[in-house]
Amino acid sequence: AQNDKESLYIVLDFASKYYQNQLWKTPEGESIGQSYFKERGFNHTTIQKFDLGYSPDGWDSFTKHAIKHGFSLDILEKAGLTIIKDGKDSERTFPIDRFRGRVIFPIHNVGGKPIAFGARILKKDPNSPKYLNSPETAVYHKSHIVYGILQAKNPIRVEDNCYLVEGYTDVVSLNQSGVENVVASSGTSLTKEQIQLIRRFTNNITVLYDGDAAGIKASLRGIDIILEEGLNVKAVVFPDGDDPDSFIQKVGSQAFREYVQRTQKDFIRFKTEISLKDVGHDPIKRAEVIKELVETISKIPDSIKRSVFYQEVASLMGIEEQILITEGNKISLKKV
Ligand code: ATP
Ligand code: MN
Ligand code: MN
Ligand code: MN
Repeated sequence: AQNDKESLYIVLDFASKYYQNQLWKTPEGESIGQSYFKERGFNHTTIQKFDLGYSPDGWDSFTKHAIKHGFSLDILEKAGLTIIKDGKDSERTFPIDRFRGRVIFPIHNVGGKPIAFGARILKKDPNSPKYLNSPETAVYHKSHIVYGILQAKNPIRVEDNCYLVEGYTDVVSLNQSGVENVVASSGTSLTKEQIQLIRRFTNNITVLYDGDAAGIKASLRGIDIILEEGLNVKAVVFPDGDDPDSFIQKVGSQAFREYVQRTQKDFIRFKTEISLKDVGHDPIKRAEVIKELVETISKIPDSIKRSVFYQEVASLMGIEEQILITEGNKISLKKV
């Protein structure tokens, strides 16, 4: 099995170099791929820092190239790079490239090896998903990795904080503006393993999710998981319609930092305010919100932190602290 993994690393590295070569050294890569990145405001240095690439718009350009270099169809398929299609008469099959006519974001492990790819379509197309990602393979478990960890690990350590965003382009864009302690969950809902990976470098996470309903929902879910792992969480919401990438490109890095500093909220205040928005004066809904808050707090492993947050919710919601503590203890007891 170790041998299998080694050959996957080799072919994935070969693919990453191929996509970069396509971007920089071919007319198609230059006119389509490079122009796309330019339009997105990504400069040469940034593109190279993240090893971004381009997959040509043919059926099997990469697969043919890889086979010529001695890779087997079997390993190409296992790496998620080639798809074996059935022909019309079912006896014949033919291989096609998974990524065609897209810009490529390699996903690296902490050690710096490419283990998968995210691939973005160039123009809106209702028949094709905006992003295609590598499937799960022997070396890629998407719930165990965050995008950008290779480039972010040292900055996260230095800042003792990790910004968590939703998308590849948020990571790349913030980096170009000098915010380097940033990783993305890349469309999957956050997992325990992803938090444990971040925890190797810091205990502090600031969630910067998109300013739409989906983004806010996702950040609320993510917060509970981060708390359960014992990390400190803050959250920032961007104006509706903006994500960290579009926002920083609009206002610049100075104003972006100021916005984050000014609006970041400790998770409990964030959750309380979001939940209270659709409660109004309905006492039943208000009780439900309080219960949810208690449930969230009860997940924090540290008892001193728990107690501070019970105090805060008690004062935010105008309710006796002791009632919250009693309820919270019931929940913690149920879990064991
Ligand atoms: P862009 O700025 O290029 O439009 P984004 O990162 O802002 O991209 P979102 O729509 O906010 O895109 O999605 C966040 C992340 O979710 C993406 O970066 C990608 O990892 C993942 N994602 C989005 N759409 C899809 C899809 N159709 N299939 C798989 N993953 C997706
Ligand atoms: Mn979004
Ligand atoms: Mn975006
Ligand atoms: Mn987005």
